[in-house]
Amino acid sequence: MDMGLSKTDLEIRERAREFTRKHLYPHELELDETECLPEATEASIRQGVLDYALNAVNHAPEHGGQGFSLVQQCIVSEETGSATNALWARVWVPPVCLKDGTPEQVEKYLLPACRGELSTAFCTSEPSAGSDAGGVRTTAVLDGNHYQIHGEKCFASHAESADVCLLTTVVDGDPTKPTLFLVDKGTPGFNIRRLPRFAQRSGTGHPEVDIEDLRLPTTQMLGDVGQGFELTKDWFVEARLAIAARSMGMAIRASELALEWAREREQFGQAIIDFQAVQFMLAEMATEIMAGKSIIYRVAQEIDSGLDRKTAHAKASAIKYFCSEAAFRIVDKSVQIFGGRGTMCENPVERLTRDVRLERIWEGTSEIQKVVIGGQIKKRGLDMYTGWH
Ligand SMILES: Cc1cc2nc3c(=O)[nH]c(=O)nc-3n(C[C@H](O)[C@H](O)[C@H](O)COP(=O)(O)OP(=O)(O)OC[C@H]3O[C@@H](n4cnc5c(N)ncnc54)[C@H](O)[C@@H]3O)c2cc1C
Repeated sequence: MDMGLSKTDLEIRERAREFTRKHLYPHELELDETECLPEATEASIRQGVLDYALNAVNHAPEHGGQGFSLVQQCIVSEETGSATNALWARVWVPPVCLKDGTPEQVEKYLLPACRGELSTAFCTSEPSAGSDAGGVRTTAVLDGNHYQIHGEKCFASHAESADVCLLTTVVDGDPTKPTLFLVDKGTPGFNIRRLPRFAQRSGTGHPEVDIEDLRLPTTQMLGDVGQGFELTKDWFVEARLAIAARSMGMAIRASELALEWAREREQFGQAIIDFQAVQFMLAEMATEIMAGKSIIYRVAQEIDSGLDRKTAHAKASAIKYFCSEAAFRIVDKSVQIFGGRGTMCENPVERLTRDVRLERIWEGTSEIQKVVIGGQIKKRGLDMYTGWH
């Protein structure tokens, strides 16, 4: 059994690491303070993504993506995820379901999205449908060769400025017919109601959206009526592993900074790393990172080798749950090792504290991951999690 990274994997890691240090870290403080970056900076980051060949890592080369394996995608997420203020989101990863569009949709949306010329947002959550995504009420009704859509969305990241929003609806208000639509920027009837402020200062909004008399031609449907959740299943696996990997990226950066500080800082006439209490915190942090990275890369390799979709989905939940919770504990311990200086906004560990908190909530809260894991254990036993084949 070879669990090592290949030469190509290592080269991708070096590329992603260099890109992150050169194009993301230098802009963290400015973004934290002003909550936006000048257009010239955004353009230079975009160019950096292309120069380092990190665009659309999840899409096939024939569509302009990098065609990376899941292991390689996790490597990139771990590196870029270490940047604070969600700067990792500048490295675009177009929704995987865009490849399931018609040839015209692939041409109009997927190809420019992979090139970084078209930005996307995913609008599923609603005021009454958060964890319970099956409770979506935004309704699409066929009227001739158009769908008439009414409803509301919330927290849809980047929807205020995305070139196209992927909108989850239920046709005829029927929950058994979840259906996706592509909404071009500026389409009448898709209105940003409010842009609430959130703890993370990423320069990206998570708006509340009113959808009133939105009229879309049937050609704007992605997939078929009722296929909405089916089309997003693969995205969930990819997104949950990405969250786990970037959580580990945050945890590693915080731990490295804390270790450096522990060696440097003296109290009571000695470096604080000489206190066993501090060593114990570092020991716990390192052990959790080792465990987190081990499950991410083991399961990513299994998925790359053809693991069935159901098992992949079930394992991705366990990985997202463990890694996001562990990263939260690790970043918090890093703050503790820094003492008061760990709460200064200029310190990356403080900013990581705000960033890492979200990872336990979006793309399915920790409780929802446990609902998935518990349900699988009830149905199929423990082996999927405890066995090694
Ligand atoms: C910054 C940010 C960006 C976001 N971006 C997007 C986006 O781009 N697109 C999008 O569609 N959505 C987005 N979301 C929404 C996100 O996916 C939801 O916040 C998340 O799914 C949780 O839903 P909720 O906030 O309504 O919490 P709720 O579902 O109301 O949950 C509240 C609490 O109840 C618990 N709970 C709920 N159901 C159960 C259960 N069955 N068993 C046990 N506990 C349960 C939860 O775990 C949680 O602790 C974003 C959210 C944030 C904060």
